[in-house]
Amino acid sequence: MAALVDPFEDLPLRDELRGLTPYGAPQLDVPVRLNTNENPYPVPDAVADSIEKSLRGLVRELHRYPDRDALALREDLANYVGHGMTAANVWAGSGSNEVQQQSLLAFGGHGRTAMGFMPSYSMHSMLAKATGTGWMDGHRTREFHLGPEQVKAQVRVFQPDVVFLCAPNNPTGNAITLETVEAAASETSGVVIVDEAYFEFGREGTRSAVELISRFPRLLVTRTMSKAFGLAGARVGYVVGRPHAIEYLQVVRMPYNLSSLAQAVARAALAHASTFLTQVEAIKAQRDRIVAGLRELGLSVVDSDANFVLFGGFRDEKAVWQFLLDRGVLVRDVGIGSHLRVSAGTPDETDVFLQAMGQLPDGI
Ligand code: PMP
Repeated sequence: MAALVDPFEDLPLRDELRGLTPYGAPQLDVPVRLNTNENPYPVPDAVADSIEKSLRGLVRELHRYPDRDALALREDLANYVGHGMTAANVWAGSGSNEVQQQSLLAFGGHGRTAMGFMPSYSMHSMLAKATGTGWMDGHRTREFHLGPEQVKAQVRVFQPDVVFLCAPNNPTGNAITLETVEAAASETSGVVIVDEAYFEFGREGTRSAVELISRFPRLLVTRTMSKAFGLAGARVGYVVGRPHAIEYLQVVRMPYNLSSLAQAVARAALAHASTFLTQVEAIKAQRDRIVAGLRELGLSVVDSDANFVLFGGFRDEKAVWQFLLDRGVLVRDVGIGSHLRVSAGTPDETDVFLQAMGQLPDGI
């Protein structure tokens, strides 16, 4: 009998993709899901009514392609972002992951390199590899801090074509200052992408890198409607930058990358921005409860400007993860030794999580 041959063994895969596994967290059906930094609240009734109304008018129009340039949505997003931005400063895609991928297609690619400051959002390096862009790991301090001097020194050494900064940073949750963004932008002749997926959850005084766009033409700021606007299922993210850069992102986009349904959902939700921003305050209150509660238990907790908290001090974080799961609470093992990450949910979810943490056996 002929030996079994794995049909994929000699697949002519690009070398840089060999051995990689797809991005993803466990999607387990448990009572308290605090592992993917989603907004815990269903779409509020008034917003759901507006969305349904705008979709109803659209369904019979689905035989037509959507507005390829998503102009009306980009105008609404620009108004929401403020700082004098217009539709020409904004481009939208199927989640902020898509606009980041487009940014790498335009400004990275074969023979070019990108860098980020670890630990950070792992999709940045995945997107780099997928677009043929070389990737280099930069570093933070032991306490996960990233300041202007560190950024400057590392960008000077690596000379990347694309610098990723995550503000606040996932998975650590801490913010960076605008001086840190400026340090990257003034040290590189490449593009700086500031990932502000969690911007709305920033504490008092948090400033957006959008403020710097008028001074730094190679700065791109990505945002999403998946978190503060609770529309992770609709897949709408966007990037803010100078019009010239935005035009080139449109060169590499797939035509009709954003369905007419997604555009309509996002526009209807943006009309209710204040409702969502009130909800964000409630989530921030739970975030702060989690930080305080975990500190009371004597754990080390990173200050958070996001809707999640990185906490640690465990001998065996995998055992803690399992202990919580056994009590119906799903958190994230982000691959940082002795640490775990928990998303801020509803007050009830915080209760269950903190209660379970309080029962953790000593020395685990
Ligand atoms: N950036 C960061 C830092 C994230 O944590 C996430 C989602 N986990 C994203 C971007 C992507 O979000 P989306 O594609 O839903 O906009």
